[in-house]
Amino acid sequence: MKLLDGKKCAESLVGDIARKVAGYVASGLRKPHMTIILVGEHAPSESYVKSKIKSCENAGFDSALLRFPETITEAELLAKIEEINGDQSTDGLIVQLPLPKHINQQNIINAISPDKDIDGFHPTNFGRMTLGQKAFRPATAYGICKLLQFYEIPTRGKHCVVIGRSNIVGKPISIMLSNDFDIGNATVTLTHIETPRELLLDETRRADIVIVAVGIPGFVTEDMVREGVVLIDVGINRLEDGRIVGDVDFANVKNKCSWITPVPGGVGRMTVAALMINTLMAYQNNFHLS
Ligand code: NAD
Repeated sequence: MKLLDGKKCAESLVGDIARKVAGYVASGLRKPHMTIILVGEHAPSESYVKSKIKSCENAGFDSALLRFPETITEAELLAKIEEINGDQSTDGLIVQLPLPKHINQQNIINAISPDKDIDGFHPTNFGRMTLGQKAFRPATAYGICKLLQFYEIPTRGKHCVVIGRSNIVGKPISIMLSNDFDIGNATVTLTHIETPRELLLDETRRADIVIVAVGIPGFVTEDMVREGVVLIDVGINRLEDGRIVGDVDFANVKNKCSWITPVPGGVGRMTVAALMINTLMAYQNNFHLS
């Protein structure tokens, strides 16, 4: 068993970005700039935002964190997004999810300019990605692809099973891995809560690559996968004792895997690295750089 080390891979990618940015700044351009909107108080969101800001520092980007109270209305938030959409000094905009229940999340995602949508959630980017066109790719799914690429794990012709069909992880990774992309050309089965248990087991037991994003600690057990599987654990679950674990029963499954992601230190780190790649792309688009 070998670890797919998201920390090591992310540091390498961010290091490459920092070198490019240093070159741009030396030529007289401003730094790339990421703006993050955070609504209310939500402990996991605080920690995700902190790691994004830290990564911006490491990449040589400027960043701004705009905090709003839980009571902000949807109209007020939409007005703020409109303002940032028109602000030439911001390249990428993230609205940290989840939002309070009185705000329609999709309305907010739809309001972000597709040119600044570094999360890759806007229908325009999602559509372009699906069609195989240039787009900001959804960050977690893109991060998984970058991790597979870093460790030279082939996907072409492989059988990949994705568990979970969320718009932010399961759906985009299933599309990306089945597309004719560098990291793609796999045969993908997308499973979800309505997949009968027997069918799920049939699929996972003969998969070359299993990607799980369900949010249930220990969901993937030893009996569900075959010897030599590549296992990507997207889950981030906080246990009552404060520990953070993924969706895989790591201790018992790991020895069956050829490769496996740890949690923490796996996909989470790659999500942030992919956001940096997308922000650099937004910046390069703004300044017509290649
Ligand atoms: P979600 O929470 O929106 O939905 C869960 C998905 O799991 C659904 O599509 C559902 O159909 C599926 N599911 C539930 N029970 C199932 C079952 N018994 N069999 C098959 N499928 C089942 O999904 P999400 O937003 O992708 O989050 C999933 C997990 O990934 C969470 O732990 C979340 O915190 C984590 N996450 C991590 C990152 C990261 O950067 N590492 C990013 C996003 C989400």
